[in-house]
Amino acid sequence: MKKQILTLLSSLAITAAAFAHGDVEIGPNGGRILEFSKNETMHGEVTVKGGKFHIAVLDKAMKPVALADQTLTANGGPTGKAAKLAVEKSGDHFVVPMVKSGEWLIVQFKENAKAKAITARMQYDTAACPKCKGEEWLCVCSAEKKK
Ligand SMILES: [Zn+2]
Repeated sequence: MKKQILTLLSSLAITAAAFAHGDVEIGPNGGRILEFSKNETMHGEVTVKGGKFHIAVLDKAMKPVALADQTLTANGGPTGKAAKLAVEKSGDHFVVPMVKSGEWLIVQFKENAKAKAITARMQYDTAACPKCKGEEWLCVCSAEKKK
Protein backbone atom coordinates (compact mmCIF):
# COMPACT_ATOMS: atom_id res chain seq x y z
CA MET A 1 0.00 0.00 0.00
CA LYS A 2 2.75 2.38 1.00
CA LYS A 3 4.64 1.59 -2.16
CA GLN A 4 1.61 2.36 -4.32
CA ILE A 5 1.24 5.77 -2.73
CA LEU A 6 4.89 6.55 -3.30
CA THR A 7 4.60 5.52 -6.93
CA LEU A 8 1.57 7.74 -7.32
CA LEU A 9 3.32 10.67 -5.68
CA SER A 10 6.39 10.36 -7.85
CA SER A 11 4.33 10.22 -11.03
CA LEU A 12 2.44 13.31 -9.88
CA ALA A 13 5.76 15.06 -9.24
CA ILE A 14 6.91 14.25 -12.78
CA THR A 15 3.66 15.61 -14.23
CA ALA A 16 4.01 18.82 -12.22
CA ALA A 17 7.61 19.31 -13.36
CA ALA A 18 6.69 18.70 -16.97
CA PHE A 19 3.94 21.28 -16.67
CA ALA A 20 6.14 23.89 -15.00
CA HIS A 21 8.78 23.58 -17.70
CA GLY A 22 6.30 23.05 -20.49
CA ASP A 23 6.60 24.50 -23.93
CA VAL A 24 7.62 28.10 -23.53
CA GLU A 25 6.67 29.97 -26.66
CA ILE A 26 8.15 33.38 -27.46
CA GLY A 27 6.10 35.96 -29.34
CA PRO A 28 6.98 38.50 -32.04
CA ASN A 29 7.95 41.09 -29.42
CA GLY A 30 10.17 38.74 -27.45
CA GLY A 31 7.52 38.15 -24.79
CA ARG A 32 6.04 35.00 -23.33
CA ILE A 33 3.05 33.57 -25.19
CA LEU A 34 -0.05 32.55 -23.22
CA GLU A 35 -2.90 30.58 -24.77
CA PHE A 36 -6.05 32.71 -24.87
CA SER A 37 -8.14 30.08 -26.69
CA LYS A 38 -8.65 26.35 -26.70
CA ASN A 39 -7.69 26.06 -30.37
CA GLU A 40 -4.61 28.28 -30.84
CA THR A 41 -6.62 31.08 -32.46
CA MET A 42 -5.95 33.67 -29.77
CA HIS A 43 -2.83 34.33 -27.74
CA GLY A 44 -1.52 36.76 -25.20
CA GLU A 45 2.04 38.02 -25.26
CA VAL A 46 3.50 39.08 -21.94
CA THR A 47 6.33 41.59 -21.99
CA VAL A 48 7.78 43.74 -19.23
CA LYS A 49 7.74 47.51 -19.72
CA GLY A 50 8.32 50.17 -17.10
CA GLY A 51 8.11 47.67 -14.24
CA LYS A 52 4.74 46.27 -15.31
CA PHE A 53 3.53 43.33 -17.33
CA HIS A 54 2.12 44.38 -20.66
CA ILE A 55 -0.18 41.80 -22.20
CA ALA A 56 -0.99 42.17 -25.88
CA VAL A 57 -3.60 40.04 -27.65
CA LEU A 58 -2.48 38.23 -30.80
CA ASP A 59 -4.46 36.25 -33.35
CA LYS A 60 -3.60 32.83 -34.72
CA ALA A 61 -0.96 34.33 -37.02
CA MET A 62 0.57 36.15 -34.02
CA LYS A 63 -0.65 39.49 -35.38
CA PRO A 64 -1.82 42.10 -32.85
CA VAL A 65 -5.54 42.29 -32.18
CA ALA A 66 -7.11 45.65 -31.34
CA LEU A 67 -8.72 45.70 -27.92
CA ALA A 68 -12.45 46.30 -27.89
CA ASP A 69 -14.71 43.97 -25.90
CA GLN A 70 -11.95 41.76 -24.54
CA THR A 71 -11.51 41.68 -20.80
CA LEU A 72 -8.74 40.37 -18.62
CA THR A 73 -8.61 39.68 -14.93
CA ALA A 74 -5.41 38.69 -13.19
CA ASN A 75 -4.17 37.07 -10.03
CA GLY A 76 -0.59 36.84 -8.92
CA GLY A 77 1.58 35.60 -6.10
CA PRO A 78 3.32 32.56 -4.68
CA THR A 79 2.01 29.06 -5.42
CA GLY A 80 -1.43 28.66 -3.84
CA LYS A 81 -1.50 32.24 -2.57
CA ALA A 82 -2.28 34.27 -5.66
CA ALA A 83 -4.24 37.45 -4.99
CA LYS A 84 -6.24 39.64 -7.33
CA LEU A 85 -4.26 42.19 -9.32
CA ALA A 86 -5.57 45.47 -10.72
CA VAL A 87 -5.68 45.28 -14.52
CA GLU A 88 -5.73 48.39 -16.70
CA LYS A 89 -6.32 48.74 -20.40
CA SER A 90 -3.85 50.98 -22.17
CA GLY A 91 -4.05 51.32 -25.94
CA ASP A 92 -3.94 47.83 -27.40
CA HIS A 93 -2.67 45.98 -24.38
CA PHE A 94 -3.51 45.20 -20.81
CA VAL A 95 -1.24 46.47 -18.04
CA VAL A 96 -0.85 44.26 -14.99
CA PRO A 97 1.30 44.82 -11.87
CA MET A 98 4.34 42.58 -11.80
CA VAL A 99 4.76 39.65 -9.49
CA LYS A 100 8.06 38.75 -7.83
CA SER A 101 10.43 36.26 -9.41
CA GLY A 102 9.26 32.71 -8.74
CA GLU A 103 5.63 33.80 -8.36
CA TRP A 104 2.74 33.00 -10.67
CA LEU A 105 0.73 35.19 -12.95
CA ILE A 106 -2.72 33.75 -13.66
CA VAL A 107 -5.02 35.54 -16.07
CA GLN A 108 -8.57 35.01 -17.22
CA PHE A 109 -9.21 36.26 -20.72
CA LYS A 110 -12.62 36.81 -22.27
CA GLU A 111 -12.96 37.71 -25.90
CA ASN A 112 -16.26 39.45 -25.16
CA ALA A 113 -18.92 39.53 -22.47
CA LYS A 114 -20.58 36.34 -23.76
CA ALA A 115 -17.40 34.35 -24.29
CA LYS A 116 -16.21 31.69 -21.92
CA ALA A 117 -13.24 32.79 -19.82
CA ILE A 118 -9.94 31.17 -20.71
CA THR A 119 -7.41 30.76 -17.93
CA ALA A 120 -3.70 30.97 -18.67
CA ARG A 121 -0.84 30.93 -16.25
CA MET A 122 2.91 31.31 -16.18
CA GLN A 123 5.62 31.31 -13.56
CA TYR A 124 7.63 34.51 -13.63
CA ASP A 125 11.09 33.18 -12.94
CA THR A 126 13.91 35.63 -13.63
CA ALA A 127 16.68 33.24 -12.63
CA ALA A 128 19.25 32.89 -15.41
CA CYS A 129 19.07 29.64 -17.35
CA PRO A 130 22.43 27.87 -17.02
CA LYS A 131 22.36 27.00 -20.72
CA CYS A 132 21.27 30.14 -22.58
CA LYS A 133 21.77 32.70 -19.73
CA GLY A 134 18.32 34.05 -20.50
CA GLU A 135 15.67 34.48 -17.83
CA GLU A 136 13.87 31.20 -17.20
CA TRP A 137 10.40 32.57 -17.93
CA LEU A 138 11.54 33.47 -21.45
CA CYS A 139 13.79 30.48 -21.96
CA VAL A 140 12.92 27.84 -24.54
CA CYS A 141 15.76 25.42 -23.70
CA SER A 142 13.49 22.84 -22.06
CA ALA A 143 10.99 23.07 -24.92
CA GLU A 144 13.75 22.56 -27.49
CA LYS A 145 15.17 19.63 -25.60
CA LYS A 146 11.86 17.80 -25.93
CA LYS A 147 11.72 18.11 -29.72
ZN1 LIG B 1 17.72 28.49 -21.50
